[in-house]
Amino acid sequence: MAKCAACGQSILFGGVRDGSLRFCNKKCSRNGLAAKIGQAIPEDDLYNAVLDVHSGPCPECQGRGPVDIYRAHFIWSLLLLSFFSTKKYLCCRRCATKKQLFAFFVSGFVGWWGFPFGLLGTPVQLVRNLVEMGKQPRDLPSPELVELIRLEAGRQMMVVRKGGPKRVARVEESSAEVDRDSSLVADR
Ligand SMILES: [Zn+2]
Ligand SMILES: [Zn+2]
Repeated sequence: MAKCAACGQSILFGGVRDGSLRFCNKKCSRNGLAAKIGQAIPEDDLYNAVLDVHSGPCPECQGRGPVDIYRAHFIWSLLLLSFFSTKKYLCCRRCATKKQLFAFFVSGFVGWWGFPFGLLGTPVQLVRNLVEMGKQPRDLPSPELVELIRLEAGRQMMVVRKGGPKRVARVEESSAEVDRDSSLVADR
């Protein structure tokens, strides 16, 4: 079965074609192209951009870093249905703790009310949040952060490429510069 070149999901019907590549939807095809462009950025340039983000101010609270990707796990249930989700945030350890505490209490409140997955899944999500809260900030950017910045840099270069030749020259000088204000948070 065909697989999406961006997110790896199997594609049952349709999807978006780009040359020999297939994607599940337009969003994935944009991500896939951005990833391809991002692959072409020299590692040094990319890593400098990553370090900038990692040691820069937190996008959420403007406080001191290090900044990295953190996760919070949610569940909510209604009778026979339970919904699980994991959100990713680009922020500092303190902001991450707040979000994980929020996820812990919200899930602890609305997770249980489904059978059987609410009862089974809620303790799992609560423990996952506790584990996330115990993770110490890293001295070095996580590989996940590197990939996020690569994708974001690729995306910005794509936008600029569309913008015409005048701006392309300017961007090639600072190809891997990442706008910290842009929303880097990916919902999954
Ligand atoms: Zn996809
Ligand atoms: Zn923060």
